[in-house]
Amino acid sequence: MTTIATTNPATGEVEKTFDALADEEVDRRIARAAETFASFRTTDLARRAEWMRAAAGILDEEAGRIGAMLTAEMGKTLKAAEAEAAKCAQACRFYAGHAGEFLAERRPADAGDVGARDAYVRYEPLGPVLAVMPWNFPLWQVIRFAAPNLMAGNVGLLKHASNVPQTALFLEDLFRRAGFPEGAFQTLLIGSAEVERVLRDPRVKAATLTGSEPAGRSVAAIAADEVKPTVLELGGSDPFVVMPSADIEAAARTAAESRCLNNGQSCISAKRFIVDSACADEFERLFVANMRAMRVGDPMDEATDVGPLVSEAQRAEVEELVADAVGKGAAVLCGGERPEGPGWFYPPTVLSGVTPRMRMYDEEVFGPVASLFRVDGIAEAIGLANATGFGLGSNAWTRDDAERERFVRELDAGQVFINGKTTSYPELPFGGVKRSGYGRELSAEGMRAFCNAKTVWVG
Ligand code: NAP
Repeated sequence: MTTIATTNPATGEVEKTFDALADEEVDRRIARAAETFASFRTTDLARRAEWMRAAAGILDEEAGRIGAMLTAEMGKTLKAAEAEAAKCAQACRFYAGHAGEFLAERRPADAGDVGARDAYVRYEPLGPVLAVMPWNFPLWQVIRFAAPNLMAGNVGLLKHASNVPQTALFLEDLFRRAGFPEGAFQTLLIGSAEVERVLRDPRVKAATLTGSEPAGRSVAAIAADEVKPTVLELGGSDPFVVMPSADIEAAARTAAESRCLNNGQSCISAKRFIVDSACADEFERLFVANMRAMRVGDPMDEATDVGPLVSEAQRAEVEELVADAVGKGAAVLCGGERPEGPGWFYPPTVLSGVTPRMRMYDEEVFGPVASLFRVDGIAEAIGLANATGFGLGSNAWTRDDAERERFVRELDAGQVFINGKTTSYPELPFGGVKRSGYGRELSAEGMRAFCNAKTVWVG
């Protein structure tokens, strides 16, 4: 039986526990979702936009309280949690404003070419969509699913990670208070073992999962068996390539920010730093200094840059990956030792000399630990950047136009950020290739992911 509870990562104390829903209650909620969908799908778009803007208003007004809740549940710094709430409000407004344009009927240039008086594509919602979500951006991951889907006329069933139940319940309450009908967005407090039953229910039409590879594989296999569409947003081990023409100081500063983002627990944090040997000494010196300068401590403190890892198990996993690398010859340039005291803190750490024999070479490290590699030239840099099973984000630093074009063309990833760090924006599609998953969230692509692109032909 899964424990559904808030355990504060800064203290290790269990603050609140919750009972999982009984099967009958889960069934009632699925029934309510299906009933709501029957009328919600045809609600006026302007009405839905009004509710979505109201949700944005609540997120802005209550950012302080929401921030403290996120920090208590998963340990991100309060300033990062408040920024997450603001980003969610922005995404709600974006979809409220753009849904009409993204869902507009599309006509081919000349309907006569298909022998019709008129022919067009209409985007229709599919029905109740199950969202299985992770704890690391507990608000943002859900909003980036919910905002486009509610605007498209789908209804949501959220199975959130078991360690963020208060955020999960807040999200249900948010949409209800904003004006959406009762069954438009519901939270199911259930463990992962209950996901299969929900997903196989014929009233549930599709699923999206953000999380680890094993969870994605399991949900996708069940959905395939039921012939239901899925979007998978899985892990990443993003490369961060630095070429000699780059602004090395800016690259080293951004590298440390990216690796320590969300206490090192972001799918799109850069994790492998691949530096041309002509600028490697300078980059290493600055990068290590920036990692050392990160202030680790109480996530509620305004001055803190890096709070605790989410759980004891998560910290133990990071420590094992570091011990494995060091045991096989990697060098620790900074960090690598957990601090004394309560809470699951781990310092920003840089390792050099990571080789394919080490687990860290091709496993995702979900903590503030960087691997630093030296290469000779762009071909070797791209080869190493692509030498991973993951393909989520990628980052390349160069001021050379020809090099930039090679990175854009040859980096095997869902997104390429040049002279910056991978970030998600409502305006741009987000997703991965290879074992990082498939499908896209955000932008028009994210909105149409769970729409029936219905072809209409009128003779
Ligand atoms: P996780 O263990 O896979 O959990 C994610 C969600 O899946 C939780 O709700 C979890 O429920 C559920 N789950 C776990 N195993 C399942 C199964 N066999 N069947 C059905 N549901 C299952 O991942 P996590 O540790 O929370 O999150 C970290 C991972 O997410 C990292 O790999 C990270 O890179 C990835 N991530 C990817 C993106 C992206 O956009 N690509 C964004 C953020 C995070 P319980 O909590 O009840 O186990």
